[in-house]
Amino acid sequence: PLTLENFEEIANCSESQKSAIDEISKGFEVNKTKFNEIVNHFRNEMKKGLEMRGQTVAMVPSYVTGVPTGKEVGTFLALDLGGTNLRVCLIKFESEGNMSIKQQKYTISETYKTGEARQLFDFLANCIDKFLAELDETDYKGSSRKGGKLNLGFTFSFPVEQTAIDKGTLISWTKGFTCVNAVGKDVVFMLQEALNRKEVPVKVAALVNDTVGTLLAHAYKYPNTLLGVILGTGTNCAYFEKISNIKKLQSSSNAEHMIINLEWGAFDNEKKVLPITMFDNKLDRESNNPRLQIFEKLVSGMYLGEITRNILLNLIDRELIFDGISSKDLNTHYSVETAYLSTIESDDTDTLENARKILEEELNIPSTTLTDRQIVKRVCQIVGLRSAILSSAALSAIITQCNVIKTGCDIGIDGSLFEFYPSFEARIKSAFREHFGTNADNFKLGLARDGSGVGAALAAMLTTAK
Ligand code: BGC
Ligand code: MG
Repeated sequence: PLTLENFEEIANCSESQKSAIDEISKGFEVNKTKFNEIVNHFRNEMKKGLEMRGQTVAMVPSYVTGVPTGKEVGTFLALDLGGTNLRVCLIKFESEGNMSIKQQKYTISETYKTGEARQLFDFLANCIDKFLAELDETDYKGSSRKGGKLNLGFTFSFPVEQTAIDKGTLISWTKGFTCVNAVGKDVVFMLQEALNRKEVPVKVAALVNDTVGTLLAHAYKYPNTLLGVILGTGTNCAYFEKISNIKKLQSSSNAEHMIINLEWGAFDNEKKVLPITMFDNKLDRESNNPRLQIFEKLVSGMYLGEITRNILLNLIDRELIFDGISSKDLNTHYSVETAYLSTIESDDTDTLENARKILEEELNIPSTTLTDRQIVKRVCQIVGLRSAILSSAALSAIITQCNVIKTGCDIGIDGSLFEFYPSFEARIKSAFREHFGTNADNFKLGLARDGSGVGAALAAMLTTAK
């Protein structure tokens, strides 16, 4: 059912609590009509994006036209700048689908996320330099290098207007990044300059979005893959489109397909069809990118906790939970982590002990009753369910565009939300079943953990092999 699953009864629920919850869940509801409306609008937005640059759903050409065959050989570097982590990987494609990976993770401090872009890119170059210094030279000696340099695939998980496989200007930051002097600049150029300043012998050969990397990596293992999806801190999707459908592209390529990075996070920035509540509007207004990434703000891991926090504060202000008492933590922006929602939703103890721990010990609410905790659990379910259903609606639109409802395809998905959120996958599938009937079984969702690094290396290989 697209409305609400059969959620448990709430014990000792007063009339006013009940009507408040009903009213809130109404705002989050996506019924069948709404679902179809979203799918249709999404398909129209995709068409617009394929026709012209600068549309809300950007439909960014990736300039990746090849498909990995699984037979590739060579050694490549990958740099993966995502929402939360930075990874540097050295990937050796041996033969027949065998590969080995060495990698190192670094955390990106707030200072780098919000400072001068040049400092961020110098930090990236530094990490690559350190990583190479710690490698054995035999790790990469004799590998395919251009002019003695190691080729690198750069996974850059932000919206970019790409004009070549190794060129793309940043459209806007997302996911809490706000570096100055980056928007409108070529991110490959900025990284290459930073590498050159440090004399790091690396050539940035390919720029890919994380969804494109995930798609390539999944396709390397499962040739039937048509979509690569991220459901993590942020959210987005890439898919194979017929080049003849990409009207805005003046292409001389004789390839048939190109991967398109949708940048679906920006879907419905105009707030026309999505079920947007006052809790979402508050989040949007207070964010550092207001009126942007509206779909992402209803769906992705960075925001689910914050939406939940807004609802809880509203219920507290109306003295419907916690005796009307909050805490300093609960009053702090982004203090409710999406991992809390996962834990609370999957708490099946009689007394909701795990929920109690989070509320009383992590968020320091003075005291909670069982009814309070049941209400909190319901709020998490409402927020989590909407996220999964909306993801499913967007995927349904793309599947329809690909014309594979009957033939089916594989879908590679990465990100903490998909990997760790209870029933996220089951909910996507049950919405598929509502929409596609028995054809829903034609789609295989597969976890493509950390695929974007491997995918970026594959992109570097596909381009340098030409
Ligand atoms: C970015 C996308 C990215 C997604 C998942 C969004 O905020 O705009 O480029 O693919 O996050 O990381
Ligand atoms: Mg990532």
